[in-house]
Amino acid sequence: MANSSITHKTCSKCGEPKSPEEFYRRRVCKVCNSTYRKAYNKSPKHKASMAKYNQKPSVVLMNRARRTKYHANLRAKVIALLGGKCAKCPFTDPRALQVDHINGGGAKERRTKGTRGNSGVNHKILSGQTEGYQLLCANCNWIKRIENKEHGRRFLSPA
Ligand SMILES: [Zn+2]
Ligand SMILES: [Zn+2]
Repeated sequence: MANSSITHKTCSKCGEPKSPEEFYRRRVCKVCNSTYRKAYNKSPKHKASMAKYNQKPSVVLMNRARRTKYHANLRAKVIALLGGKCAKCPFTDPRALQVDHINGGGAKERRTKGTRGNSGVNHKILSGQTEGYQLLCANCNWIKRIENKEHGRRFLSPA
């Protein structure tokens, strides 16, 4: 640009004259500032202070609330994608609706995916792969498990 040099500020870090838009309010240009931030975020000092911050009771509570909200949202989306209703009866209360593998195998999938439970399944469903999954209410889910003997001899139906 043909601006006069008066409209330029000189960065105190890199020493380059730059236009005022290249600065926040300080005397360090945006480029230098972000370089500094990135380096700082990686430093052990920053990590230690973040770890300390995350241990504060108020922060622990906040993080927990955030996680709970995140999972509630995720669950609501998954339930909506699967129709929001038990596949076997008219039950619609999301508190007792569970994602079911139509052909069984849920326990096996959970085992191979580790202890994070259904998160793999949830992400599959969120990405549109709803085939093979259905919603069952807790009652229908138990009945199905017993009928399929997914829970072994202890829960054999009395028939
Ligand atoms: Zn600079
Ligand atoms: Zn049901």
